[in-house]
Amino acid sequence: MQRFVGFVYREVRLQGRLGKPTSIEIILEPHASIRGRCGACRRPAPGYDRLPERRWLFVPLWGIPTYFLYAPRRVECGEHGVVVEYIPWNEGNRPVTCAMMGFLARWARRMSWREVARTFHTSWEAVYRSVEWFVQWGLAHRDLRGVTAIGVDEIHWGRGKRADNFLTVVYQIDADCRRLLWVGRRRTQATLRGGLKTLGAEVVQGIRFVCSDMWKPYLQVIAAEVGQALHVLDRFHITSHLNAAVDQVRRAESSRLRTRRRGAQPLKHLRWTLLRRGSRVRGRARQKLMTLLESKLATARAWELKEVFAHFWHYRSVNWAEVFLQCWCARAMRSRLEPMKKVARMLRAHQPLILNWFRAKAELSTGAVEGLNNKIRVVTRRSYGFRTYEAMEIALYHNLGRLPEPESTHKFC
Ligand SMILES: [Zn+2]
Repeated sequence: MQRFVGFVYREVRLQGRLGKPTSIEIILEPHASIRGRCGACRRPAPGYDRLPERRWLFVPLWGIPTYFLYAPRRVECGEHGVVVEYIPWNEGNRPVTCAMMGFLARWARRMSWREVARTFHTSWEAVYRSVEWFVQWGLAHRDLRGVTAIGVDEIHWGRGKRADNFLTVVYQIDADCRRLLWVGRRRTQATLRGGLKTLGAEVVQGIRFVCSDMWKPYLQVIAAEVGQALHVLDRFHITSHLNAAVDQVRRAESSRLRTRRRGAQPLKHLRWTLLRRGSRVRGRARQKLMTLLESKLATARAWELKEVFAHFWHYRSVNWAEVFLQCWCARAMRSRLEPMKKVARMLRAHQPLILNWFRAKAELSTGAVEGLNNKIRVVTRRSYGFRTYEAMEIALYHNLGRLPEPESTHKFC
């Protein structure tokens, strides 16, 4: 299934110890009548000498580690001088064949890297390097034409809230192609500028819609660099700001109640209920929620404000949406709930960009950012234990980048 022009399989040896197979060794030889090719230009060249035998890890057969053994030739190229020949299963100085790297990388999309390493009797490092090779090939060969809508998002990663715990991601959110385009460390202006630069001026000029959060550095860079596009503040992000505010009110009130009286705790176990959409709360949780609403608690008022805001997204006319937004903000400002007031101030400050949502609604798949955001969380969580930022970046591209894959004569998985 793996044929390499110019090379033949001479022998296959099964190595074992105490009656158990330990490895399979596949010995390759150059084809007697085909000349070696130059490693740099791949043109046939006369032979020079042979180097000592090398081993490459191949895809395991029947669960037994399998190796390619081959003594590379050196050839004398007219242009490049004496160089090591072109070896089709080899990539750089890696001790793993391309087939095996592709094999490990494909499995690394379905399982954690540690599991892949354990299952196929190799190291975490080998899996990492394989995925890295796969991703680099994909990034070099991907097609960025036709990107018209992008989403810019920040992702929290790891523990703590330091600047290094955030990533900036740029997605393509066109209806026919949703993928991760770029990941960068931190969430500064410089980060996003770097990202847009990597995508290239041609891609940036073609963008018609940008969806983002209200994070100030992003707003500034988008206004400066992607000025021609309609900038939309995304529903998903505004909803998460509202939810965060409700949660803040609940937490503050909960601890106030706990110190004041013992016994009944009306806010206990309500955290997730409060964050759901009201119409989706059923059963006992619904009863608890109703009891809460009858109370005069601050949490109840905050929740109601959040719930009412959901209407905003149903407007067809920008003008009516604007009226609603102003009424809502006025009400929130009177609520005496500081977190809700903060959200209202934020919405007021960004009103034009929020209303752009209604202008873009027909053409933009507005759930795309949320969907990709959730997928990223799955990857960063599964890859918990990634020691470095670089490894996680590669995992993100690998899982969400929809990158083209290096061709192989046979797919082993
Ligand atoms: Zn050459």
